[in-house]
Amino acid sequence: MGNTSTQSPVLVIPCSGIGKVHGLMSREATYLVTDECAAGRTDTLCLALLVKGDPDAVAAVRSHACITIDGCAKACAEKNVAMAGGRVARAVQVAEAFKNHRGAKPGNATALTDDGWVIAREIAASVACEAASLSDAGEVIR
Ligand code: SF4
Repeated sequence: MGNTSTQSPVLVIPCSGIGKVHGLMSREATYLVTDECAAGRTDTLCLALLVKGDPDAVAAVRSHACITIDGCAKACAEKNVAMAGGRVARAVQVAEAFKNHRGAKPGNATALTDDGWVIAREIAASVACEAASLSDAGEVIR
């Protein structure tokens, strides 16, 4: 996981949905973006640091474009980034991605199936694309 002094232009921040497959998918999609699809131009940080008001984490979301990936409509990552004064350039919800995969069996809270990885990779590809646009547009630092 990234740290809060990142120099990467775009922060991808997953929710902390423990105990739900959608939460696991938000984290795995994030790692696919930061470690593979958009490595070098993205980084992540721990949502819990923001929730507790860690100064470095707050400064990071205020100085970088943020893409949040939430497991469900409660949108914990999106809301906490916004509450910390960060700029949410795009908010993704894993549950939305299932609309194109009716009947998919993604796995459980600890492991994804092939279906789950297919959806996580789709989310990651979309987020990486958005991160590239933000980065190329030069609009990532306020
Ligand atoms: S967005 Fe949904 S899955 Fe993620 S932490 Fe919040 S309640 Fe849990």
